[in-house]
Amino acid sequence: MKAIRRFTVRAVIPEALSALEELALNLRWSWHRPTQRLFRSISEPAWHASHDPIQLLGAVEPARLEELAADASFVQRANELRDELRRYIAEPRWYQSLEGAPASIAYFSAEFGVAAALPQYSGGLGILAGDHLKAASDLGIPIIGVGLFYRSGYFRQSISGEGWQQEAYPVLDPDGLPLSVLRHPDGMAARVSLALPDGRSLSARIWVAEVGRVKLLMLDTNIRENDEDLRSVTDRLYGGGGEHRLLQELLLGVGGVRAIDLAVELLGLTPPTVFHTNEGHSGFQGLERISNLIADGLSFDEALQVVRAGTVFTTHTPVPAGIDRFERPLIERYFATADLLPGVTLDQVLGLGLESQMGGPDSVFNMAVLGLRLGQHANGVAKLHGRVSRSMFRPLWPGFDADEVPITSITNGVHAPTWVDSTLVALAEAQFGTGDTTRVDWQSDQVTDAQLWAARNEMRAATVADARRRVRAAHEVTGGIAPAWTAQVLDANTLTIGFARRGATYKRLTLMLHDRARLTSILTDSERPVQIIVAGKAHPADDEGKHLIQELYEFSEQPEIRGRIVFLPNYDITMAQSLYPGTDVWLNNPLRPMEACGTSGMKAALNGSLNLSILDGWWDEYYDGKNGWAIPSADSAGDAAERDALEASALYDLIEHQIAPMFYDRGADGVPSQWISHVRYALATLSPELSADRMVRQYVQELYTPAHHLAVRLTANGFGAARTLSAWKKKVADAWPQVAVAHVESGGLDAVPQVNDELHVRAHVALGPLTPADVRVEVVYGHSEPGAGDELTELRSQELTVDPAVAGQDGAGTTAFIGSVVLDRAGSFGYTVRVLPKSDLLASPAELGLVAVAG
Ligand SMILES: *Cc1c(COP(=O)(O)O)cnc(C)c1O
Repeated sequence: MKAIRRFTVRAVIPEALSALEELALNLRWSWHRPTQRLFRSISEPAWHASHDPIQLLGAVEPARLEELAADASFVQRANELRDELRRYIAEPRWYQSLEGAPASIAYFSAEFGVAAALPQYSGGLGILAGDHLKAASDLGIPIIGVGLFYRSGYFRQSISGEGWQQEAYPVLDPDGLPLSVLRHPDGMAARVSLALPDGRSLSARIWVAEVGRVKLLMLDTNIRENDEDLRSVTDRLYGGGGEHRLLQELLLGVGGVRAIDLAVELLGLTPPTVFHTNEGHSGFQGLERISNLIADGLSFDEALQVVRAGTVFTTHTPVPAGIDRFERPLIERYFATADLLPGVTLDQVLGLGLESQMGGPDSVFNMAVLGLRLGQHANGVAKLHGRVSRSMFRPLWPGFDADEVPITSITNGVHAPTWVDSTLVALAEAQFGTGDTTRVDWQSDQVTDAQLWAARNEMRAATVADARRRVRAAHEVTGGIAPAWTAQVLDANTLTIGFARRGATYKRLTLMLHDRARLTSILTDSERPVQIIVAGKAHPADDEGKHLIQELYEFSEQPEIRGRIVFLPNYDITMAQSLYPGTDVWLNNPLRPMEACGTSGMKAALNGSLNLSILDGWWDEYYDGKNGWAIPSADSAGDAAERDALEASALYDLIEHQIAPMFYDRGADGVPSQWISHVRYALATLSPELSADRMVRQYVQELYTPAHHLAVRLTANGFGAARTLSAWKKKVADAWPQVAVAHVESGGLDAVPQVNDELHVRAHVALGPLTPADVRVEVVYGHSEPGAGDELTELRSQELTVDPAVAGQDGAGTTAFIGSVVLDRAGSFGYTVRVLPKSDLLASPAELGLVAVAG
């Protein structure tokens, strides 16, 4: 029945149970176990069917609700939990103890994975955004989330009998979700609108989700005011290409800023001073803010300074192909529309985003370039990814070393209350008196090996039971009745390896199949068997990814190994929560360095699973020889095939010779004590580091707070400093061709210099119309390997000052700067002198991309 119309009738909740509505509408329940237990106690089967309080309330019989309304102890429990939620939302937390932190931060992301009940994510990026909001809520950080509401979210995956991925796009009904519409006081739904080419316009309503104390605004174009074709702008997450995606991103960025203004007005939120764009999709937000500042009387360049100062841009991809890009004609068509961004010209937009600025073609508009041009503060998502990003984007800062490119890194983290299994939480509660598993000493004897091993066994058994249920359900969907063997798949006591990720090629889903005979013998070893649980979705347009899934699926269906390796369809948050905890080993084998961070291994680690991974993403910085295993990367292999062969062979070796023997090495009590000692060590050392708490605090301290201070300074006194900075940048850029280091003299050293000797430097610098206050003249020094040409490593710098003896004027039209460097290390030494623009309103000396180096 194709024409059927569906809608959700919300349950009528008896007055006495009004607390349940409040609890169900705030997504805090998704990481608050006592609230989950309350809903679960209403109906065990309804809870298991949906893991969603609103669905549950709609599914239970009214008679059951009446019964609970008359149950004084239930009503009291519900009211207490509601009061606890209200306290959680209102009370001062970590952030309230800080001084000088921003009063409000906007966080933009194209996807948010908060809970399975609100499926608005495709994978890691969205789940990271959800974890960011949850941790921000726990820490009391005043963040406003901004995203889109996709009518079908991402797709639901099933696998055909031939192993081919099938996609379905079930339509979500927002009335059945924990959302409310943003309304004006007269009841009218609030709307944002954007001017489009040909006199058309795109409108959206705004859904508000409560994520603890954080509000998440989600824009939705599926409203009557829109032309039929425009209603579907927010139909699916990454559902379209080119123009469809551009419309989504215009709505997210430009519409998102307008939605914040409405939420500030209608919900009494504090206007943000800091705008964080999680990946390039929301980059257009900066253009809308520039347009608003131009309306306040600033020039484009002045407005740009203000916007840059308050913008944080996080890049998530280490490969140029992963960046969001648009064909220039498409950008031209949309941004030539007069009323889209009043005051901002098409040329100005192109000037901020054309890929030609980093050596690419000028026919392509690059959202990462836009992000970096509009964000004075930028970061990658792991240390290695920061380094890779600095090299990748180095062409945007010509004349600077990759090390100096102003992109820092903050390693991702995961929200522990969401991802740590209740069995482990219960163990921590029982042994340490707290359920916060990230802050207890897992290496102390407050917990015994036997207790920890029992918990790990229980978690593995639960994962195996859930996986078996999923395998059977999948067979029932495709073939009717699940075959008998599916009742026996996997085993609760076998060493269990987990591997789940998007089907992107670089993640090498099928590396483990490289030598099928060897894998088969590992899986079926009679003394030390191994089992592998695999899951992952391929992008709907990625046939190569679907072939990999098919290959794995077909391998797993072979009679001699089925049951030892299973592919679970429809990887999502719910599956992830039951999959990670019960794995003993979490496998990750991307092509280094293509995994920006990776977070699934973090979630596994927080549950006592040991990582077995290529040294990429977060593992590159956290692997220490004791907390898991590193698969060596064959970076120097001749070609991709050789690399796969070498890395696969290393992977098998590790499993066969180290992992399986240690796992099955049991004491008289049946406990693998060496294994458990590694689990204790990994839990104790990694949990605090990998938690989103650590990540979000770092964002506050290293990026949000500096951004806030610069933005406030530029905004104060009628934007005085913004005007000064803009004029100064222009003056410096115009004068720069005349700036040069004319010549350098040095002295103070013997023929054979020794450590602690001082090198005296005197540099004569031509400044053109600039003054010494406009520049930083510095000695840059470091290791100089013989034969390495002009390359210096371990760069350091020492600022020179105007020579007071001659008041700087050295008579040759140049200014003399002097200073000295202490040679504090032995070895080969190299140095040069360079000039950089200087202002305390710059976040980095490389910011203007201007430098003059001694010839
Ligand atoms: C954590 C998570 C991801 C991301 O994992 P990666 O290691 O970054 O690939 C993807 N999907 C789900 C459902 C997750 O929970």
